[in-house]
Amino acid sequence: MDIIKLNPQGFCKGVIKAINIINKAIDDENIKRPIYMLGNIVHNRNVVQAFRNKGIIILEGKPRLDMLNEINEGTVIFTAHGVSDAVKERAIKKGLNIIDATCRDVNHVHDIIKSKLQEGYDILFYGKPNHPETEGVVGLSDRITIVDENTDFNQIKNKSKILLTCQTTMSYLDVVSFYQQIKARFPQVELLGEVCNATRTRQAAILENKDNLDLIIVVGDPLSNNSKMLQQVAEKKANIKALLVEDINGLKDVDLSLYNRIGITAGASTPDAIVEEIINNLKNNNNDFVSKLKFEDYIR
Ligand code: SF4
Repeated sequence: MDIIKLNPQGFCKGVIKAINIINKAIDDENIKRPIYMLGNIVHNRNVVQAFRNKGIIILEGKPRLDMLNEINEGTVIFTAHGVSDAVKERAIKKGLNIIDATCRDVNHVHDIIKSKLQEGYDILFYGKPNHPETEGVVGLSDRITIVDENTDFNQIKNKSKILLTCQTTMSYLDVVSFYQQIKARFPQVELLGEVCNATRTRQAAILENKDNLDLIIVVGDPLSNNSKMLQQVAEKKANIKALLVEDINGLKDVDLSLYNRIGITAGASTPDAIVEEIINNLKNNNNDFVSKLKFEDYIR
């Protein structure tokens, strides 16, 4: 069995920036305590738990404005997915110390949308409805509508200026095909596809290697949109069976002897240590699919 590591891999620049910012805050005694995080810093359970172990209080499961109601003192961290202006203003009003770990690519999408709104455009945002990045974008204006393949186009107001843009972690091929669909109905629609480079290059690597592979293992958290998109690109665009596993434990019940050439890719928030453990086990024919990693391995 050949194991082929598809590149690029490792944390993307946005995740690296977020992890560095938070590690710095943890080490700085002058940063106001307690330190809260509005949601998961990145969509990787292991990374999040590693920060919990270092004393960060992570709020989950509700809109960011509601999470802020639970914080009355200390420091609040905005995650790599970005927040709306309303969240920033509420945090300032509450007198909280703010640490903004928003990825530069997400900030870029916010800037584009704000400038197009000022020019009179209505915005269609191709993204996952319950994702924090979408929440941050949609909170910018009530002239932004979330759209996807299930949207009833009759509900879209037919304005003279319409911009279609997208969540940074979507499949870039899906963005183009969705644009073509919507353009047939609204010819005036303009596209600014904002799939980030980290997401795009990982998807492209699957398509480039598709003829050489009979299985792809995507290593990533089931909540990570860019990881889910890698699985989708492999299955729907490259026609290769793809497994999404969080770590080596996810391979326990898989009969890998059915495959000759296995490609390994990973989401932009998947720690290298997890991928390396999988590759080493498979290359050494070690069928003991139990992870030996410790939390500190994930954010070192
Ligand atoms: Fe930024 Fe892209 Fe990484 Fe998200 S996946 S943090 S948008 S670089």
